[in-house]
Amino acid sequence: VIPEKQTFDDFEISHEFRDIGHKVMLLNAREIYRKEMGAKLLLLAFEDITEQKRLEDLLADSEERYRRLFETANDGIVLLEKDQGKITHANPAFEKMLGYNMQEVVDNKLQNFVVLPDLHDFQTIMQVLNKEGIIKFDDVLVTTKSRQHIDTEIYFVDRAKLVQCNIRDVTERKRQEEALRENEEKFRTIFKSSSDAIFIHDSSGRFLEVNDVACERLGYTRDELLEMTLMDIDTPEAAQIAPEHIRQLHQEGFIFFETAHQRKDGQQFPVEITSRLIDYEGETWILSTVRDITERKRAEERIYYLAYYDELTDLPNRRLFYDRLKQIAARSEVSGNGGVVFRVDITRLRDVNDSLGQQAGDELIRQVARRLADTVYEKDTVARVSGGEFLVLAEGKDAGERAQNLGVRILERIGRELELSGRLVYPVVNIGFTLFPQRGTDPDTLIKQADLALSEAKKSAHRIQEFARQDDWISCQFHLEHDLKHALTNEEFFLCYQTQIDLRTGRIVGLEALLRWEHPQRGIVSPGEFIPVLEQTGLITSVDAWVIHKVCKQLKSWQERGIYITAAVNLSAQELSNDAIIEVVRIALNENKLQAGNLEVEITETNLMENVERTSRILQTFSSWGVRVALDDFGTGYSCLSYLQKLPINTIKIDKEFVDGLPENEDSVTLVQTIIAMAHNMGKKVLAEGVEREEQRYKLCELGCDYGQGFLWSRPQPVENLTLIES
Ligand code: C2E
Ligand code: CA
Ligand code: CA
Repeated sequence: VIPEKQTFDDFEISHEFRDIGHKVMLLNAREIYRKEMGAKLLLLAFEDITEQKRLEDLLADSEERYRRLFETANDGIVLLEKDQGKITHANPAFEKMLGYNMQEVVDNKLQNFVVLPDLHDFQTIMQVLNKEGIIKFDDVLVTTKSRQHIDTEIYFVDRAKLVQCNIRDVTERKRQEEALRENEEKFRTIFKSSSDAIFIHDSSGRFLEVNDVACERLGYTRDELLEMTLMDIDTPEAAQIAPEHIRQLHQEGFIFFETAHQRKDGQQFPVEITSRLIDYEGETWILSTVRDITERKRAEERIYYLAYYDELTDLPNRRLFYDRLKQIAARSEVSGNGGVVFRVDITRLRDVNDSLGQQAGDELIRQVARRLADTVYEKDTVARVSGGEFLVLAEGKDAGERAQNLGVRILERIGRELELSGRLVYPVVNIGFTLFPQRGTDPDTLIKQADLALSEAKKSAHRIQEFARQDDWISCQFHLEHDLKHALTNEEFFLCYQTQIDLRTGRIVGLEALLRWEHPQRGIVSPGEFIPVLEQTGLITSVDAWVIHKVCKQLKSWQERGIYITAAVNLSAQELSNDAIIEVVRIALNENKLQAGNLEVEITETNLMENVERTSRILQTFSSWGVRVALDDFGTGYSCLSYLQKLPINTIKIDKEFVDGLPENEDSVTLVQTIIAMAHNMGKKVLAEGVEREEQRYKLCELGCDYGQGFLWSRPQPVENLTLIES
């Protein structure tokens, strides 16, 4: 008890005491007067406030932290008065999320901005909050000031005097979840409804999941398959290279290859596999889609057969003969192993057809074919060229010496009696032949020589004749070569254009430029005759370059008249054997300021196969500029369809040979149909070449072919005769 006190200010003292350590004290000083002592005294009172101080600091600290959180949070946060739900604070995220500013928000009720199903009555929320301390609402659709809706999650937390309300924008998360669900759904649908077999497996090939198609194809149940590995369904050969495929897959993330699978019953079938790495339930697996390509392989074989064999006799046709002769003759110069080319013609086949009927004629051809094949060695080639005309290629060390004898044997063997439609006949043939490498090694030359010798044989009494007039021949070839050398400088070349038609609309979609040579004496010479000579002499490169420039200039001049059209140029195989062609095309386009998309190059399948890598690089370059690429004469080459998929080819041109058979020949129909289906599958367009008749056009339309080209619409025309409509 301190009476009549005089108070001093409170001092806060922070002091390190010797025995009790650091303390914060509140010092109270008071002057008091003691009557009995007759003196003034100073009363000092110390209050230990160390603990209180610590708590205060702590509080300040956590408040600061809370404030910072409030300001920088991603959630929109508002603080609400407990009784009415009025907003006292809102953080920047809230303003941003809803598009209101602070003044608009503060002192308003939360219910004015956010409609919660249960928030009509803020008291209810408070009641729950008092019990639980926190309430959460999922899936609340909040409307922003600009009337946009956002998906949110909202929760309330009791914060002593106030209620804190957090609003979290989950639109993006929802979208991702949705996308994921959709993806999964899509995946599941693909998995279920795919016509391809689908496997999910690990790097050792162990299956995690397989679809119904997979089970059906392989003849195993799902449970059986899940106990197996990919290697168990590979054929033994395929299983050997499987680890290499898997290594490659891990390197590139994606692979595509052909192999063969084996059914439970042991039957094997060719497949095409696409494998990629996938994340499935948090782990990396391999997803392999397996397509059964039995049908396609069959079609490929069929195309190959039709391209290289004669259906009537099952013998090779002229094309296969030519390829073999080319190879063997080229080798003969090095190996010293020579050979003979025979041309064998049945005489009076026409008479047989006329008197005994077409069937008897066919039978005669078949019999002669068989006898020819029986007379020569197995490794020799007998080909039917057309009608009753055959070519025979025999090779070997002594082929030259044996030639005459072999010829005579052929005459004798074929001439034996034969029964045709109940009548005995004695087939007669004439034979012309030539030797290589003595008379040259170029296949065209050799075949022509055998032809010439045959005409001699027909005129003579011998029925068999060797080609001998080498001097005549050389001078004849030499003339052509000599004349061609000057054709370019003498401006004897010119271009004709043939229209390409959209079969659905009947509109012109493009032109093909075709080369013509006007010889000063001989008149127009056909490309079939002079292009091989240009190729042999290497002149073709400068001629093709001339064509490209000429065509680009023509396109430019059309464009100046408002005609925008695409023109195709034919590239000879040699152009794809080095990169020079890239520059030629680039310069021609630049000089004429042409869009690359107006130019198309036509190449043949044989070109493609000769140097796959370079060809594909050149084509990729063209295609990256926008130059279109067409594959000419499709069906006459190797016809490796899966290979085409990897090249930037826009259009496939079906060779005239197959179009000729439409619509009557069932094989041709199937073939054209197969080609179209496969081309479309690969995203490529199809053009039919050499369409001459209305029925063909109709059938092609029916088969879904995109474009056509041929005499039905127009022959190749010189520029002045073309009528192009401005577009
Ligand atoms: P290709 O590229 O297959 O050209 C199509 C050939 O079929 C052309 O023969 C064309 O006149 C002919 N044609 C078009 N429609 C029909 C039809 O309905 N019926 C018939 N019977 N034939 C039709 P062309 O002009 O004699 O050319 C022959 C080959 O010469 C061309 O075959 C091509 O390989 C080559 N060629 C033509 N021009 C050039 C060129 O500028 N450069 C190169 N490297 N080769 C060329
Ligand atoms: Ca062509
Ligand atoms: Ca063609």
